[in-house]
Amino acid sequence: MITAYLGLGSNLGDREAHLAAARERLAALPGATLAAGSPVYATEPWGDADQPGFRNQVVALELDDSWSARRLLAALQAIEAALGRVRDPGRRFGPRTIDLDILLFGGQRLNEPDLVVPHPRLRQRAFVLVPLADLAPDLPIPDGQGGGVAEALAKIPFKISGNSLWSGD
Ligand code: AMP
Repeated sequence: MITAYLGLGSNLGDREAHLAAARERLAALPGATLAAGSPVYATEPWGDADQPGFRNQVVALELDDSWSARRLLAALQAIEAALGRVRDPGRRFGPRTIDLDILLFGGQRLNEPDLVVPHPRLRQRAFVLVPLADLAPDLPIPDGQGGGVAEALAKIPFKISGNSLWSGD
């Protein structure tokens, strides 16, 4: 059994519904259990309130031993494709409505051209670290830099009000 932490994001259409649909598909993967989900955060871009904001969440997915990080990446990409395609007959591929990232895959460290785990931008992003810290503040980040989730979060600037989250000073 391995626990993967995934980052979910959406900034198009019914964002909460896209997150819910992604969670449903993750839970339906064979040998997978959706063990925990953080609150959903509204992440508004600084100074540009007219832009559609993101909804972000982190979930913990427990996977049996048949899973590898690479197989999980393929499964996430299939879910993105299934949910992100606008059903417009005149338009084969529409804008992507859901973004799914592998943040952590157990204690594994991978550095391949198309798959880097822990996620390379994990330490810079409040919209990832805040919900990850909701689920697992003491979890070590196995990227060689040392320290865990809460320690990484303490090093970056962000503001939070209720479930709204802003990055930056
Ligand atoms: P994006 O469009 O920003 O979601 O980036 C997707 C690309 O990032 C895919 O082609 C993946 O191969 C690559 N990638 C590298 N590491 C990861 C990771 N940990 N989780 C998800 N995608 C990853």
